[in-house]
Amino acid sequence: MKTATYTVYQADHPADFSLPPLGPLVLVNRQHPLQSGFSVPLQAPDERHPEQLMELQAARMLNACLRAVNCTDRIVPVSGWRSHREQQAIWDETLACEGEAFTRSYVALPGCSEHETGLAIDLGAAAEKIDPIRPELPRDGVYGDFRRAAAHYGFIERYRADKIALTGIAAEPWHFRYVGVPHARYMELHGLCLEEYIALLAETPLVCRLENGRTVTVRRVKDLQALPPAAGARQISPDNTGCYIVTDWEAMK
Ligand SMILES: [Zn+2]
Repeated sequence: MKTATYTVYQADHPADFSLPPLGPLVLVNRQHPLQSGFSVPLQAPDERHPEQLMELQAARMLNACLRAVNCTDRIVPVSGWRSHREQQAIWDETLACEGEAFTRSYVALPGCSEHETGLAIDLGAAAEKIDPIRPELPRDGVYGDFRRAAAHYGFIERYRADKIALTGIAAEPWHFRYVGVPHARYMELHGLCLEEYIALLAETPLVCRLENGRTVTVRRVKDLQALPPAAGARQISPDNTGCYIVTDWEAMK
């Protein structure tokens, strides 16, 4: 078995919460900036690019997905986790070189970037020269295989052309966001972006049936004290709107 050496370290701030302020379903956009004061354990999803990091679970799942479709040589991590300072530098530099309209379309405001959570990554087709802001990631061939597999590993193409009015970001076919399974599958099957998925959960809990026959219940709650006890595995993720998204996997029979 191959063991890879990964870089693991803590981001800017020490954790100061009894519950994690970050989770795979955290919504980050212009209306929902990130709270400060969180820590993210980071790891490189591809050991050949140790400078590009992601949150631990997201990194492991991306690595598994790239291996599953046999495209580790063809798809390159271009930009993963960014500190607030790095996001600010990218914003300032793009603004100076490309102007305000371009920058507002393709670069998230510092504090409003998913890259600061470690849950997002820009991926590009391996090439001699790769555009650092808008890397090319085609839709055919092995790239199509990756796109079809991504949701099974918990990833969504976050900024689609038909969702610009909701996300506030231009189409970015290279930007993938980890939300976890079964959420990515549900969003893909129903054509929802993260904003729509969270709005849907505000109205009704969801019951998803996984391919292995187990059911998963997904709820959005304000008060964790009111939750019934978990019968199986439970994941709690803040959604950055003042609520939590609670995912309960049916207990093993
Ligand atoms: Zn991105």
